[in-house]
Amino acid sequence: MQILDGKALSNKIKDELKIEVESLKKNHDVVPGLAVILVGADPASQAYVSMKSKACKAVGIYSIVHEMPSTISHPEILEIIKMMNNNNYIDGILVQLPLPDQVDTISLLEAVDVSKDVDGFHPYNMGQLVQGLDGFVPCTPLGVMELLAEYNIDVKGLNACVVGASNIVGKPMASLLLNAGATVDICHIFTKDLKAHTLNADIVLVGVGKPDLITPDMLKEGAIVVDIGINKVENKLVGDVSFDAVKEKVSYITPVPGGVGPMTIAMLLKNTVEAAKARRC
Ligand code: NAD
Repeated sequence: MQILDGKALSNKIKDELKIEVESLKKNHDVVPGLAVILVGADPASQAYVSMKSKACKAVGIYSIVHEMPSTISHPEILEIIKMMNNNNYIDGILVQLPLPDQVDTISLLEAVDVSKDVDGFHPYNMGQLVQGLDGFVPCTPLGVMELLAEYNIDVKGLNACVVGASNIVGKPMASLLLNAGATVDICHIFTKDLKAHTLNADIVLVGVGKPDLITPDMLKEGAIVVDIGINKVENKLVGDVSFDAVKEKVSYITPVPGGVGPMTIAMLLKNTVEAAKARRC
């Protein structure tokens, strides 16, 4: 079994981005800028935003966090998005999800300028992805594809099983795999026999949010396993896969933490630098 080390790869990508950001500043007087919109006081969202801000700082990207109370209205958030759309120094806009119930998340995501949609959640970019065309790709599935590429894992012709079908993880993950030539099953809460699907897969990618959802009996010998889930169990972070139980059966596996999570942040930085280059160089 080999570990797919997302932490190491993300550090390598961040080192490369730092050099690229320095050269953008030197040659074009451009400092990439990211605006984050954080609504409410959800500890997980606050922790993610803080990690993203620190990562920006480490590579030289300017970042600003617009913190708003959970009682904020839809029009007030929309106003901030419009301001960021019109701010030339901001290249990427990230709306940290989930948003409170009084807010229409979809229409806010649609309000983000497509050229600044570094999270890739705008319907335009989603449509581009489904068609295999250029556009921003959601950071988590993009990070998974980079990690697989780093270990020379070509998914062309493989049977892939994506477990979890959310707009931000499962659906874009499935599209990327399909575009890369895999045969893709997408499983979700209403899937009748999850094990039948996972057992047939050469590569299983799980983003659900349920510890121990994937056990050794559900995997074929030598399967590749990508664990996207993040769960807190007794103050420890774990994924959706029973890591210790499956590790001797699989060929490759991502750890949690240290697998997909750091890659997600690295891809956010990469998308922001790409946005700055496309908009201002
Ligand atoms: P979500 O709640 O929006 O979606 C969960 C999906 O899992 C749904 O499609 C649902 O139908 C499916 N599901 C639920 N129970 C199931 C079951 N028993 N069997 C099969 N499918 C089932 O969640 P999300 O935002 O997509 O996040 C999923 C997980 O990925 C969470 O643990 C989240 O913390 C993690 N996540 C990790 C990263 C990262 O960077 N590693 C990024 C985003 C999300």
